[in-house]
Amino acid sequence: MIDLRSDTVTRPTEDMRAAMARADVGDDVYGEDPTVRELEDRAAELMGMDAALFVPSGTMANQIAIACHTQPGQEIIVESGSHILNVEVAAMARFSGVMPRAIAGQEGSFTAEQVETALRPDVYYLAPTGLVCLESTHNAAGGRVWPGDRVREIIELAGAKGVPTHLDGARIFNAQVATGTPARELVAGFDSMMFCLSKGLGCPIGSLLCGGSSFIEDARRVRKTLGGGMRQAGIVAAAGLYALEHHVDRLAEDHENARLLATGIAELPAVSVWPQETNIVVIELDGLHTAPDLCRRLGEQGVLASPAAAGTDRRRIRMVTHLDVSRAEMMRTVDLLSQELRSPAV
Ligand SMILES: *Cc1c(COP(=O)(O)O)cnc(C)c1O
Repeated sequence: MIDLRSDTVTRPTEDMRAAMARADVGDDVYGEDPTVRELEDRAAELMGMDAALFVPSGTMANQIAIACHTQPGQEIIVESGSHILNVEVAAMARFSGVMPRAIAGQEGSFTAEQVETALRPDVYYLAPTGLVCLESTHNAAGGRVWPGDRVREIIELAGAKGVPTHLDGARIFNAQVATGTPARELVAGFDSMMFCLSKGLGCPIGSLLCGGSSFIEDARRVRKTLGGGMRQAGIVAAAGLYALEHHVDRLAEDHENARLLATGIAELPAVSVWPQETNIVVIELDGLHTAPDLCRRLGEQGVLASPAAAGTDRRRIRMVTHLDVSRAEMMRTVDLLSQELRSPAV
């Protein structure tokens, strides 16, 4: 199988498993797991932030950040295609009592002027804005990197209004590799950020929430509230340390494989391909093909892809490259897609 549904489908490599087996561990709820501490220190250092917290998932990291930054009854500004808004089961309402105020971005990013319009003035019958969230790379927008000047302007504006900022940087290392800008520069100025180990970095589990020291102290309490306190978590933290050492620069191969796919099918008559920057390729189909149908036919021939934005758009397919797909497999995917798209839909 060539599994391009997501970069979450990767399996730990032999060397990663060996690192996990060797890990020094302790009870992390007592603060005694040396491997977790090392991973948290490394993450904080990489992001240029005071401290970091190891959590089971990216969703938990985002939701802890929202809980720590906001008060119930506030609004948070998010992009309308963002992960926080669309695929985190309304957790912000359930756990933090806040409402989203969605801004429609272009290719996943919005401007400081749009934020200015969305920020609520201080009027007693309006919900105060409690947080501004950005997402880079932007998953639903096809792995796009937020333009640095937009990020800086928004951080400056939010700062001037006393509103904190959080970055959903699930794939921040894809942004680092694509732009050649170190992650710590891409996240400079945010009050908090999170990144996933379980996506392109190839770990089985885990995300890191990074921020100031008192924010991370609060975050540790909220993590426990959500049932996210883990015991000998060094076993999985060791995979994270391994990945940060060995699986960051190789993301360039995933981007190259995505480029191979995007350019390989760009000239086909029945499709248009979104601009590809990182490891996500979004394909728009013409009238003859629907995404679920094409995905089924590809699946029967050993290539797995997902209809993008489940349920909302039957004309869009997403393919994500990662460390378990090779260049040869991408070429085979291009050949197969070319055949399928040249043949009439059934
Ligand atoms: C995957 C993802 C998350 C959530 O991570 P999980 O570990 O799946 O909970 C958050 N934001 C973005 C942009 C993601 O792609």
